Parts: sequence; C-alpha cells; structure tokens
Amino acid sequence: MNIIIFGPPGAGKGTQAKYLEKKLNNFQVSTGDMLREEIKKESEIGKKIINYMNEGKFVDDEIVNKLMKNVIFDPKKKGKLIFDGYPRTLKQSKNLELLLKESNQKIDFIFFLNVNKSTIVQRIEKRKKIEKRSDDDLTTILKRYDTYMETTKPVLNYYSNKPNFNEIDGGLKIAEITSKINSILKV
Ligand code: AMP
Repeated sequence: MNIIIFGPPGAGKGTQAKYLEKKLNNFQVSTGDMLREEIKKESEIGKKIINYMNEGKFVDDEIVNKLMKNVIFDPKKKGKLIFDGYPRTLKQSKNLELLLKESNQKIDFIFFLNVNKSTIVQRIEKRKKIEKRSDDDLTTILKRYDTYMETTKPVLNYYSNKPNFNEIDGGLKIAEITSKINSILKV
C-alpha cells in the first residue's frame, strides 16, 4: 500500500515512516533526506538548493518533482511507497497524482500528524543535539514552521476532503501515534 505522512517539521513523520517501512516492508520516500543527500554529494542540484535548505525555505517544485519521478516509477517500490515530507505544495500534490496515475498506482492512506508550534520547537531543539542538522536552529525552525503552515494549507484542504484522510494528534507519544496508525491500517 502507498501512504502519505503529512505534517509540520518535527511532527514525527520520519519516525513513523521508518517504523512503517520496517513493519510493511515498504520504502520511505523522504524528500528532505533525498535533498540532503544531493548537498552531501555536491551535485548540481545540491549546489542549487543548499541556501534554500539552510534558510528553511522550500526547494523549487520542479527539482523535487523530478526527484520523485524516479522513485515512483521504480518497479521495486511500486505499491510500497511511504511519502514523508512530500507533497508540500498543491503543485506537488497534482504532480504526485499524475505520476501515480501514469504508473497505475494510488494513495491508500493519508495521515496528518497535527502538532502545535511550541511542541515542535521543543522537539526540534532536542533533535538538533542528536542529529546536528544545520537547519535545526531556533530561527530556522520557526521559519520552517511558518513556511510549512502558509504553503501547505491548500494541500491540507485538498487532502482533508479525501475519504482516506486521517488526522492524528502528533503531540502524543511516539508509540501512541504508531498504535493509532496501525489500527487504521489494520496491521
Ligand atoms: P524535512 O527533512 O522534510 O524536514 O525537509 C527539510 C528541508 O528540505 C525543508 O525545510 C525544505 O527546505 C526541503 N524540502 C523537503 N521536502 C520538500 C518538498 N517536498 N518541497 C520543497 N522543499 C522540501
């Protein structure tokens, strides 16, 4: 099954996606990880996006959509995709719909992990100490949260009308969120 995990930075998308990847034998598709990898490789894309990423701004839809195409058309991953951090704009949602249609796939479940700003700030400050990501300082965190909320509102409205949309309180403990997701997926 194909799943979208949606929510602001620090909502726990990556944690839940990694868990589901193991449990379902699926593939986590994290655009954040893919973009960080491009920066690490110092690729053409990496050079273009480094400033956006460090400032907490979204990377161009064209760049992200291009990266997605290869993943969605990968026969090994067909029907086993867990989108983490994608789509983040309406343009990306439409692109995803198109690519899925072209490859004879659909989204089976959408999870929105809803968390307030103060919980996110606390969590990301903690994560900074562990992962040492350059975009995890407080100013960038607040910028990322605001960018997310502004830009993804239309995406949220778009998905929240779908029958397979599920909102989960992302302020709950990790295990509680996992158990809610499992019961919806019936796994
Ligand atoms: P994340 O690891 O999902 O928190 O993403 C980290 C950063 O990568 C974001 O702040 C954006 O700069 C960039 N990014 C990740 N996913 C996307 C996306 N779908 N569209 C645009 N930018 C993205």
